[in-house]
Amino acid sequence: MSDTSLVPVPRSGILDIDLYVPGGSKAAPGKKLHKLSSNETPLGPSPKAVEAFQATARKLELYPDGSATELRQAIAETHGLNIDRIICGNGSDELLHLVAECYLSPGDEAIYSEHGFLVYRISILAAGATPVVAKETAYTTDVDAILAAVTPRTRMVFLANPNNPTGTYIPMAEVRRLHAGLPGNVLLVLDAAYAEYVRRNDYESGVELVASAGNVVMTRTFSKIHGLAALRIGWLYGPKAVVDVLERVRGPFNLNAAAISAGAASMRDRAFVEAAAEHNSRWSAWLTAELGKIGLKVTPSVANFLLVHFPETGKTADAADKALLAEGVVVRKVGGYGLPNALRMTVGSEEACRRLVEVLTAFMKGAA
Ligand SMILES: *Cc1c(COP(=O)(O)O)cnc(C)c1O
Repeated sequence: MSDTSLVPVPRSGILDIDLYVPGGSKAAPGKKLHKLSSNETPLGPSPKAVEAFQATARKLELYPDGSATELRQAIAETHGLNIDRIICGNGSDELLHLVAECYLSPGDEAIYSEHGFLVYRISILAAGATPVVAKETAYTTDVDAILAAVTPRTRMVFLANPNNPTGTYIPMAEVRRLHAGLPGNVLLVLDAAYAEYVRRNDYESGVELVASAGNVVMTRTFSKIHGLAALRIGWLYGPKAVVDVLERVRGPFNLNAAAISAGAASMRDRAFVEAAAEHNSRWSAWLTAELGKIGLKVTPSVANFLLVHFPETGKTADAADKALLAEGVVVRKVGGYGLPNALRMTVGSEEACRRLVEVLTAFMKGAA
């Protein structure tokens, strides 16, 4: 007879994980939905990606290519990279988890910044390691604070550049200074999910650093500018030795056939990506200016979303969120990121941007 006083126990740390809450997606009844809560593109996917996706419907009985060769080839050619140093994932989330699983053990520490992407904390805790938070300065990664947090137990640093939900970035010179200050046995994970949107001369996604260092990886996604979030496609570029380790642990068929085909087609459609970046630059600047005119503080963003700050009392972020929801505009609360007085808003279609400003203008003018 089994001993019922014994129960299965997860690895220590796992019960410290708060459930990740995705952005909302429901409009108020009778209102047109504008979903600005998950940084999805308003332009949809490339028509070439949709065509490739549909073609896969004819051979669903076959396992996909376990090496995602077609997709890795398209990435390697487009970005001028060595295909042997690219590994794909079921979204970049899977790759972030995989890196933590393979390189962190209980007792190890991993650092991320104060308002850094929440998936890092989840990955670190799931690996049984200890999350260490480095303070930010003006909602921006502070390299000195990260370096000051390094101890002999540190094994990993996660850096989203640009960061979500703040929209800020640090120049490549700062990333290099961070790397130079880390011991060689600390893996620097550069998450460049929004790289395609950034139009700054001093920004780089980190490709060159990965190419020249043994302890840096860069992750990218098809969920944002490529408009393929539903297919779950991410990729990682890293040292051959690191990629070999990740290859051992990943699921043998972690990308499905539709993702491989559509991802490859999208990667080769450079004009589509360029048009999406252009739309974003234009409407991000417009939104920032318009929200400023009605008295809202917007953290300068280089990505496809804005972090908008509200007063602590009166016209609060919670009240603004409710007012927007009532009009079908769904944005993201970021209290879970330590930002209870702010909301994160995706730069949507022209119609969505105008609606957002309309509703917030009425909200700011109304009685508190
Ligand atoms: C959206 C996002 C990702 C992408 O995640 P996927 O799993 O590829 O959809 C990764 N990192 C950051 C910071 C993000 O905001």
